[in-house]
Amino acid sequence: MSRPAVQSGILDIAPYVGGESDIEGAGQIIKLSSNEGALGPSPAAAEAFAVISRDLHRYPDGDCAALRTAIGEVHGVDAANVVCGSGSDEIISLICQAYAGPGDEVLYSRHGFLMYPISAQAVGATPVTAPETDLTADVDALLAAVTERTRILFLANPNNPTGTYISADEVTRLRDGLRDDILLVIDAAYAEYVERPDYDAGVNLVEGGDNVVMTRTFSKIYGLGGMRLGWAYCPPAVADVLHRIRGPFNVNAAAQAAGAAAVRDAAFTAKVRAHNARWLPWTRDQLLALGLKITDSAGNFVLVCFDGLDANTAEAADGFLKQHGIIVRRMAGYGLPDCLRITIGTEAEMRTVVDTLARFLGRNE
Ligand SMILES: *Cc1c(COP(=O)(O)O)cnc(C)c1O
Repeated sequence: MSRPAVQSGILDIAPYVGGESDIEGAGQIIKLSSNEGALGPSPAAAEAFAVISRDLHRYPDGDCAALRTAIGEVHGVDAANVVCGSGSDEIISLICQAYAGPGDEVLYSRHGFLMYPISAQAVGATPVTAPETDLTADVDALLAAVTERTRILFLANPNNPTGTYISADEVTRLRDGLRDDILLVIDAAYAEYVERPDYDAGVNLVEGGDNVVMTRTFSKIYGLGGMRLGWAYCPPAVADVLHRIRGPFNVNAAAQAAGAAAVRDAAFTAKVRAHNARWLPWTRDQLLALGLKITDSAGNFVLVCFDGLDANTAEAADGFLKQHGIIVRRMAGYGLPDCLRITIGTEAEMRTVVDTLARFLGRNE
């Protein structure tokens, strides 16, 4: 018996597993598994969504014109070179489709975001990883891993799940060390959260050449994960290519309306950023005081590691948290089996997680 033949590489893909959202039998749950905004979406975005619900029979604007204008104004970028997608996941996949294929290599760092190898394999390309130093992207190691087959280099900055980032100078050094025919994709999904003076999301690098793209998302600080909305800032030739291969209506009308309202709601964005600036360091300090290892995350989450704690493994901690209605993310799929990733939620949620981990470790008075 024969059956339809699937393209090579596709059956090698380990499907992406999203954060869990439910615990059977639990009442109220605390979901800190997907880096969603702690304070939900902007009220202005929810209102725009409600308004457009009356016009669901209308096709969306295939150019995302109003949304791109809003992004251009708020982020200080040229709207003509912004390409919107159904989540930045779609942009990552379009970039792989356009610039890599069988025999080509797609490079990223060891604990980089899993959509990079998935999207590379989906087009028959080979994902290649470079080692990290202290769970942080290593520019020298990335450059050393470049071969004549390398077509794309994905750098999540800050990275998910480690939360670590490299400075603007280091990103520039990476770009300067790459051949001009390799596309550097800077995935700045968490850029709005970063409070570090030496960080830059990459706008100037995009504008300064032909081989750098920056991707952004509405799923994190804007709290619109359910809408599926992301964008890329591209050199004109790359924008032209992505427009040719994307679906004509790849971003739905509700996402465009909610996204434009969210990006213009500067007060709400500032509030979410301030919330994170308070509760990220608080959470980090509390977990360090419990004797846990933790990376220096610049995003809206922490990576907590349980190695060297004998029976108190990440798996056991995850089970204990679940029993108490708290969902975090296991990290075995990222090659970090001793670690858990915990999103920064509300104050009450963070206090509950810390208390529960203290009880797990037997540290409660
Ligand atoms: C969450 C995340 C994204 C966003 O994906 P969407 O498809 O826009 O929801 C992209 N890159 C990284 C590194 C992320 O953590």
